[in-house]
Amino acid sequence: MGSGQLARMFALEAIPSGYEVSVYSPELHSPAGGVGAKEFVSEYEDKEALLTFLKSIDALTFEFENIPEIALSVVEEFEKNSDLIVRPSANCIRIAQNRWKEKSAFQEAHIPTVNFFPVFTESEKSETPTKVKFPCILKTNTMGYDGKGQVKCNSKEELEQALSSLKNPNHIVEEFFPFTSEASVILARFQDGTIANFRPSRNVHKNHILDLTFHPGNFSPDVEKNLVDYAKKLAEEIDYVGVFGIEFFIQGDRILCNEFAPRPHNSGHFSQDCGSLSQFSLQLRTLCGLPAPKEIPVRSVTMKNILGEDYKPESKLWSQTLENPHYRLHLYGKTEARKGRKMGHWNYSGPNPESAFNDWK
Ligand code: ADP
Ligand code: MG
Repeated sequence: MGSGQLARMFALEAIPSGYEVSVYSPELHSPAGGVGAKEFVSEYEDKEALLTFLKSIDALTFEFENIPEIALSVVEEFEKNSDLIVRPSANCIRIAQNRWKEKSAFQEAHIPTVNFFPVFTESEKSETPTKVKFPCILKTNTMGYDGKGQVKCNSKEELEQALSSLKNPNHIVEEFFPFTSEASVILARFQDGTIANFRPSRNVHKNHILDLTFHPGNFSPDVEKNLVDYAKKLAEEIDYVGVFGIEFFIQGDRILCNEFAPRPHNSGHFSQDCGSLSQFSLQLRTLCGLPAPKEIPVRSVTMKNILGEDYKPESKLWSQTLENPHYRLHLYGKTEARKGRKMGHWNYSGPNPESAFNDWK
């Protein structure tokens, strides 16, 4: 489900392996359609169209979590009465699309997370400003991505003001954590419970959107072990089957889990050029019941996102970069380069990975 860049990169793994790929979304001429996936074009809420799609496929996975509940229940019902394989489960998508459910799942799995407060009711709205420590961030509970729907509040007054102007009450308030770095782990869990994961990466965001990923992140062995253990704990706690990306905040040896995405993650794109299996090939393997790899060899890769405002194929820097064989360009086939829109990414796998994109500031 979904036909954007993540579906495109999945199709680019699956089609050369002999699979047929179909994608369902409201978009015609989508990034995934552009590389040979068959497009089913309808709204997610269109039950009849969705059923037609589900009847035509053997296995279903997702490229994003913001799928309307009505579509998730159609999938769940169809799965019960057919041989369709659905990985991850609709229930895992429900957890990931709702910050409150997601952070509650972290707590249940004993994974440390930021202090958070639901502000769903009038009384929660009036009590939260007296309980929370400042600064804090007011976030939409659902449908948030790339920092959208977030307001940072430095004082009780600012939070009260922000809360009073909310039209939709479905929000949470989170305490701000002054992290020194951000990390993520890409993990694949197979049907039989086997787990394969990449080593943690270090991520740098710009305007709340991922800018750079350094892989491996070169954290201390203790931090690295804890990050991977937390990722595994979550996968087991919610009985996850498929690939996910989980994000963390780090300050010294303190780690807090921020969120997870029930699909390949932008911070896992380095894996396409790590000389081994990519996160999309692991997604394919978990979905189609292929074996788990015995190990995932590690190679240093630095990834840089190309947003609409950075999309300058005619620039000197762009052609200089292409002249260097250690850089590989991935573009998503989007024609309109809007500001903040993810157009593609660069992966660098040569010497001095730390400074690979210093000229791109
Ligand atoms: P999204 O779903 O939009 O990715 P995130 O919760 O991951 O939302 O927030 C985007 C970025 O904003 C994070 O990667 C981090 O840089 C910053 N951020 C979000 N929440 C916090 C927090 N509680 N403390 C500090 N920084 C935060
Ligand atoms: Mg995030």
